[in-house]
Amino acid sequence: MKLLEGKTAIITGGSRGIGKGIALVFAEYGANVAFTYSSSVDSALELEKELKTFGVKVKSYKSNAASYSESQKLIDDVLIDFDSIDILINNAGITKDNLLMRMGEEDFDKVIEVNLKSVFNMTKAVQRTMLKQRKGSIINMSSVVGVKGNAGQSNYAASKAGIIGFSKSIALELGSRNIRSNVIAPGFIETEMTSSLNEETVDSWRSSIPLKRGGSPKDIANACVFLASDLSSYITGQTLNVDGGMLT
Ligand code: NAP
Repeated sequence: MKLLEGKTAIITGGSRGIGKGIALVFAEYGANVAFTYSSSVDSALELEKELKTFGVKVKSYKSNAASYSESQKLIDDVLIDFDSIDILINNAGITKDNLLMRMGEEDFDKVIEVNLKSVFNMTKAVQRTMLKQRKGSIINMSSVVGVKGNAGQSNYAASKAGIIGFSKSIALELGSRNIRSNVIAPGFIETEMTSSLNEETVDSWRSSIPLKRGGSPKDIANACVFLASDLSSYITGQTLNVDGGMLT
């Protein structure tokens, strides 16, 4: 039997990058996959096709994770299509980097809304279902930047640090109902989010990492498999750094 067989996962921001990597690895391990995207319809439909080849149930949804009402509707729709939700992965995220001196109010608010409020929206929306089932695994995508800060990313770091506090609180609130809440803090993962950096910056990142390479979406996905599966049934309230040793 595959590790995630019979479980249904919902992944926000599944159309690209880390979210797509998680969707692929989850399908490979037998999970049914519902995933969202913000605007990439074509890549979402393409991924749906690819995931179906694993013989699992799959559906993509266009849904803005920053919207409370859209998140509520999304969970209602997923429940109609899939019957249950065992795993929630709050992965959707954006950056709007700038030094504080040049950061506008809008850039701060937008990053907090998409990265942090979305975690509240989705967790709140899925809570009732998981309480009824008396089980659930929630995995929230933070970042090494949320753990240690980064110049030029105060909005992003605040959103990612906020996720850690939120996630620990939910672990305390829902632990007695067998609902677990953990965080993954990826280091430097090579996706579109990081492709805008110049080659020199990327090389200096790579050489500063103890494992001497950037991570791949699959590296993050494998950690998610562990936290989503029953192998981690006694683990909650934790932050797992998946960063090639960056924060060591
Ligand atoms: P990415 O390649 O830019 O992909 C972002 C995904 O989020 C896309 O699927 C995008 O959908 C979706 N999205 C954006 N805004 C959304 C919204 N309002 N509602 C729903 N979906 C939305 O990013 P990534 O590198 O895979 O990063 C994924 C997560 O890991 C983020 O939370 C990021 O902060 C975190 N992370 C990444 C790194 C890294 O090095 N890459 C490191 C640490 C943490 P569309 O395709 O429709 O735009």
